[in-house]
Amino acid sequence: MIHTLPHRIKLACLPTPIHNLSRLSRYLGGPAIYIKRDDQTGLAFGGNKARKLEFLIADAEDRGADTIITGGAVQSNHCRQTAAAAASRGLHCIVVLGGSPPTDSTGNYFLDALLGAEIVWSSSGRKGESLDDIGRECVVEGKKPYIVPYGGSNAIGACGYVFAMKELGMQSRDLDLYFDYIVFASSSGGTQAGMTVGAHLFGVQCDIVGIDVDKRTGDILQYSARLAELSNSTAQLLKMDTTFEAKEFTVRSEYSGKGYAVLGEREKEAIHLLARSEGILLDPVYTGKAMGGLIDLIRNRSFGTNEKILFWHTGGAPALFAYSHDLS
Ligand SMILES: *Cc1c(COP(=O)(O)O)cnc(C)c1O
Repeated sequence: MIHTLPHRIKLACLPTPIHNLSRLSRYLGGPAIYIKRDDQTGLAFGGNKARKLEFLIADAEDRGADTIITGGAVQSNHCRQTAAAAASRGLHCIVVLGGSPPTDSTGNYFLDALLGAEIVWSSSGRKGESLDDIGRECVVEGKKPYIVPYGGSNAIGACGYVFAMKELGMQSRDLDLYFDYIVFASSSGGTQAGMTVGAHLFGVQCDIVGIDVDKRTGDILQYSARLAELSNSTAQLLKMDTTFEAKEFTVRSEYSGKGYAVLGEREKEAIHLLARSEGILLDPVYTGKAMGGLIDLIRNRSFGTNEKILFWHTGGAPALFAYSHDLS
């Protein structure tokens, strides 16, 4: 039972649709593939961060913040959606991007500026390493900053995906459609941790399979440990008396290719295939890798032909424009 519900504001267009990918399923000749369209959450081209921001921005407002600070890579979808969320609530937004200004202003980076965010370049580190320092500078200037961590992945942000599982459970009942697996792109962990806690809380029975998109320096087990820690802090926030262990998380690490944001052949094939067979746009950094992994798992007969797979589309298509040379 949940004793306290964290405060939430409405930012996303929910529930997102679920529909089948019949042409793709037929082409691959394996299990039935369905898709959950979190690329359609609204908030300036959608994506999974919209769900997390419903809780994070609520917390920022409760604390009287006037400035939202977050960080990510140049083509961060998280930064773009945070900039949109801040704009919609009349809050100032500072996005701290890794590297130095690129020569063309395109994709998410272009949108950050269009949405009115102040852009700060951190020469090294694309995971918001300098957010605390920038927060301290804001305090000195008399602002009330609120730091949204990298990817929005803390216990508050993860609540977005706890309640996404409630939404999925209700859709399954309405459609009489139950899934054996959920497959999606996993990176900073808030999505996977939230889904895991939500599946437990709302009794959704299915295997949650994260496709890692980030070639990690340490062992992949460190990421599973991080997912367990994040799930435990999320469960604690919701006053649940459940604990999660690293070994309960499924993370497929073999599809991260040459690493974060590097486009390989597998993801190119997935992006082209989805565009041409279903008219659906995947992105080069996250969902292209996740779908590339799913296609490979199907070709390797990792699923029974009677099983049902839900590919959870987490967004990201605005980054396509920054990769147009590699994709055409
Ligand atoms: C951030 C992001 C992810 C990864 O979600 P995490 O909660 O960070 O694991 C997946 N897909 C897209 C498009 C994203 O922007």
